[in-house]
Parts: sequence; C-alpha cells; structure tokens
Amino acid sequence: SEIRENLTYPIFGQAIRELAQTIADDGYEPDIILSIARGGVFVAGGLAYALDCKNIHLVNVEFYTGVGSTLEMPVMLAPVPNAIDFSNKKVLIADDVADTGKTLKLVHDFCLDHVAEVRSAVIYEKPQSLVKCEYVWKRTDDWINFPWSVEPPVVRREGQILDA
Ligand code: 5GP
Repeated sequence: SEIRENLTYPIFGQAIRELAQTIADDGYEPDIILSIARGGVFVAGGLAYALDCKNIHLVNVEFYTGVGSTLEMPVMLAPVPNAIDFSNKKVLIADDVADTGKTLKLVHDFCLDHVAEVRSAVIYEKPQSLVKCEYVWKRTDDWINFPWSVEPPVVRREGQILDA
C-alpha cells in the first residue's frame, strides 16, 4: 500500500498525553517503564513525565536474519536488563508500534518471568500483531512515518565546522 500514516512531532506530543491519560484512568501505576530502543525511547520518555514515573529502563532489540534469511526473529542485544531490577515491580513496556508484535512479545515474555505485573503501551498497533497491547493510541494497517526516523541520518558537512 502507498498510504502512509504520518506522525509529526506535534501530534506525537498529543498522542503521548492521550495515551498517558488512558493508562492513568485505568489505574495502572507502573514502577518501571521499559523502553524498546530506539523508537520506544521517545514514547517511554514522554510517558514517564506524563505518568510521573522516574524509573526508565531500556532494552535494545534488533532483528536477526538467519541463514537462508527466510526466518526473521528479533533478539535482545547486550546488555540485557537485570532481572533483579524488575522483581515484584509493575512494569510498563513502551514502544512506538506493534506490527507483527514479535518484538513486543520477546520483551513481554522476558518480563513475565520476573515481574509482579507487566503491561504494554504503544502509539500504534496493527491488526496482525500477535500481542494485544493494553494501551494503544491508534490502530492502523498503514506504514507509519515516525518523526525520528523519517529523515536519513545527518552527514558531516566538510569544511563548514571549525575546530575549537
Ligand atoms: P514488530 O514487527 O516486531 O512488531 O515491529 C518491529 C519494529 O519494526 C518496530 O519497533 C519498528 O521499529 C519497525 N516497524 C514496524 N512497522 C513499522 C511502520 O509502520 N513504520 C516504521 N517506521 N517502522 C515500523
């Protein structure tokens, strides 16, 4: 499909407030927000302020393409969060989007073994996601352009930056 869901930074700010309000209204008060890097870091930071939660953790998840490259599985990269930090804690997993849901499932299953309770919050959830998040701002079937990844990385402008 050529249709794009375009999230801008201003709309992102609005989405975070609305998502946080839904979580608060539901009575969930997380001790820890666990962000999935990199997109989930933006979501976690916003939710942490809006929910007045000062404890943010981070997990790096990347897709590993296996031999033959037909199987695509997400993997947690080192350093993996310390399970002791999560014991008997209420955790909120934060990510930008649940698409296949494989990334969220990996992190969710990791948490299940350690925590008192775990729930997930995403800005977007797609219909095919095998994880159904407790908190979703918007459901879409379209490809999403996120403001932090819609533009390519900056490149150095040769000769324009003077050494101190
Ligand atoms: P999963 O398929 O495991 O749910 O999603 C894994 C990752 O793929 C997401 O965290 C996100 O980085 C990327 N992704 C999935 N769907 C989209 C999309 O519609 N737009 C963008 N920009 N990234 C996506």
